[in-house]
Amino acid sequence: MKESGNFTVRICPKCGKFYCEVPATSRADNSPICPDCGTREALESIGVCLEEQEKILATIHNAKA
Ligand SMILES: [Zn+2]
Repeated sequence: MKESGNFTVRICPKCGKFYCEVPATSRADNSPICPDCGTREALESIGVCLEEQEKILATIHNAKA
C-alpha cells in the first residue's frame, strides 16, 4: 500500500471507532462502516456466531501485523 499522507479519518456509526481504511458498506442501510464491522456483517450473514466472528477478526488483525 502507498502512503499518501492525506488519508481520511472516518468514524464508524456501528462501533464508534475511528478508522482510516477504505470503508465497507453496511448491508443494513448502505452507510459506510469500518472494515471490521463490514467483516462482522458478512460473517453474520452466513450464520457465523459472535464468538466465531471475534476469533476470525483477531486472525485477520494478526495477519496484518
Ligand atoms: Zn465499526
